[in-house]
Amino acid sequence: EQIPVITIDGPSGAGKGTVSKKIADKLGWHFLDSGAIYRVLALATVHHDIDPSDEESVAPLASCLDVHFKSSADGSTMVILEGEDVSKEIRNEKVGAVASKVAALPTVREALLRRQRAFKESPGLVADGRDMGTIVFPNADVKVFLNASAQERAKRRYLQLKDHDPSVKIEQLLADIQARDERDSNRSVAPLLPASDALEIDSTSMTIEQVVDQVFSYMQEKL
Ligand code: C5P
Repeated sequence: EQIPVITIDGPSGAGKGTVSKKIADKLGWHFLDSGAIYRVLALATVHHDIDPSDEESVAPLASCLDVHFKSSADGSTMVILEGEDVSKEIRNEKVGAVASKVAALPTVREALLRRQRAFKESPGLVADGRDMGTIVFPNADVKVFLNASAQERAKRRYLQLKDHDPSVKIEQLLADIQARDERDSNRSVAPLLPASDALEIDSTSMTIEQVVDQVFSYMQEKL
């Protein structure tokens, strides 16, 4: 049986997460937040006191990572690491920075492939990440690469964070985003690049709804 897959890749803060989730909900399909897997692994290295750039220690941790995703009553997804709800903790900037370090290790990416592919289940999958259309699901039916200027992404991040953390500075967020883009784009394995057959969307001056509509009409053409 052919199970359809839609991949949505792009840099952090481009709106992939929100757009992917909305599309998955609308279609009643499964949703893979691959970044959450790298974030959970990052957190596990912190818990186990492992250096995130020490490939020989991180790879075995990646292979036996005890992570589960559970949908909660309000429609959000709970992320459970070794029995503990880490949904909030994995979202902080520090964990994101460590995630992009473990994500640069080839054997770590390899170890996580099967786990990500297992999300492909009937009736369909929307997969969100950096290499969903290039490496993890190269035969996906619909591929999108969602981008936005670094300034705009820093602004969106700022608006999300400022209520919880009044000390947050937009300049710092911009610097963090640029550093993470740099690491994600220049690593030797699975660098952040649009698949050759991906539809590229620049969301800098678009609303989430406009992006969702554009992806939807593209999808209707392709499926
Ligand atoms: O998307 P998110 O910001 O949650 O991802 C955190 C980090 O995980 C990214 O900066 C990137 O380094 C890594 N990642 C990846 N491949 C993916 C998804 C995330 O390398 N498919």
